[in-house]
Amino acid sequence: MLGIGIIQGLVETARNFFGSYTSKQRLTTVQFPDERLIQPEAARVFPFLVYDTDDWEKGLRCVACKICEVECPPQCISITKSADKKPDYSGIYSGKPQFYPEKFDIDVSVCMSCQICVEVCPFEAIKMDNAFELSTDDRFGGLMWDKQRLAMPNSHYQAIHPTDAAESDAALAEKKAKAEAKPAAAAAAAPAKPAPEKAGAATER
Ligand code: SF4
Ligand code: SF4
Repeated sequence: MLGIGIIQGLVETARNFFGSYTSKQRLTTVQFPDERLIQPEAARVFPFLVYDTDDWEKGLRCVACKICEVECPPQCISITKSADKKPDYSGIYSGKPQFYPEKFDIDVSVCMSCQICVEVCPFEAIKMDNAFELSTDDRFGGLMWDKQRLAMPNSHYQAIHPTDAAESDAALAEKKAKAEAKPAAAAAAAPAKPAPEKAGAATER
């Protein structure tokens, strides 16, 4: 029948309009900023750099391997690797000193929130934040985030993405346990050294 689609559309509109007074699911708008929706765990906006313990600089997990810089599609990450190594402050690298990013910048005006940097990082060092109220009138400095601006504690990651953070913590713990087990296994597999000859044994013969 001619116009059936229009009638069906109007019925659906009326159903949603009147239904929004009685059903929470049909009320899709909220009075932001007085009212806020709880963000889903998968919500992501821009990346942040994870640090452990209470010192953002010493505890940064990033080892400046630059994989994320190479893989970032719009090339908005810029890293300068340190010349020296810093101590393994948080113990996640089994006590081995690591390189660190002397400079780590992300131009968030270019970042497209694709999360590729997170997926390629072998060190659980970069994750996606869900903060979205980020407007600024500083067009240049305000949108180029340096490592201090990017640094967030692991507790922040655990709070916003608890499932992923638990997996990440478990992966790091497993890696650390494996690294620590290696020297012990090597020592056990090494052939036993012959006992040193007793002094005077040669002269007795
Ligand atoms: S989220 Fe995507 S665009 Fe943004 S820094 Fe990471 S890789 Fe680059
Ligand atoms: S964030 Fe990860 S991938 Fe990027 S430089 Fe640091 S350790 Fe490498």
